Amino acid sequence: MRLILLGPPGAGKGTQASAIVKKYGIPHISTGDIFRVNIKMGTELGIKAKTYMDKGLLVPDELVISIVKDRLTEEDCKKGFLLDGFPRTLSQGEALDEELNDMGLKLNRVINIEVGKEVLIERAIGRRVCKDCGSTYHIKFSPPKQENICDNCGGQLFQREDDKVETIKQRIQVYLKQTKPLIDYYTKKGLILNVDALSQ
Ligand code: AMP
Repeated sequence: MRLILLGPPGAGKGTQASAIVKKYGIPHISTGDIFRVNIKMGTELGIKAKTYMDKGLLVPDELVISIVKDRLTEEDCKKGFLLDGFPRTLSQGEALDEELNDMGLKLNRVINIEVGKEVLIERAIGRRVCKDCGSTYHIKFSPPKQENICDNCGGQLFQREDDKVETIKQRIQVYLKQTKPLIDYYTKKGLILNVDALSQ
């Protein structure tokens, strides 16, 4: 199964992704996670990506596309994959099409999570992430048993810089302008499956 998960920031893509990869036994490829790992390790890519991420802007296409192309050639992707947070621009979508074409592969579905702006803001600003194991919580919708402590590993929870209210508003604007056109792009290809985030 070769899938894309599309949706605005804070729509709960990560939660959906965990369920989907479990169901199909495919790797979860999150470009946001790849950047965060690189930031933590202090790599050149991480340092560059952070300057954009902290402002709620997209990392330039040329940086993202090459990472995803490399990742798709890895052994575990032979079973398929779930792309989460990629593509985020039309150029990324076109580059992905070219790459899959060269590999003789086709996408099966693009799952589009739909959710209103107010809900997005509420979801994003309440989100907390464990600094050690990356588990995510929401202070209102799925709080940890003990405030600010990860149920999974006991690590400290924190709020991502890009989940703060001003940044999230900026990210939503970026989504509307740069990512939303992809819905049309994949609708024309007959690949879109719309999912209402609130019914999940
Ligand atoms: P995410 O965890 O998917 O919400 O991504 C967090 C941040 O990483 C985004 O706000 C962007 O700054 C950056 N990012 C992740 N994926 C991409 C992508 N495909 N293109 C450009 N920037 C990205």
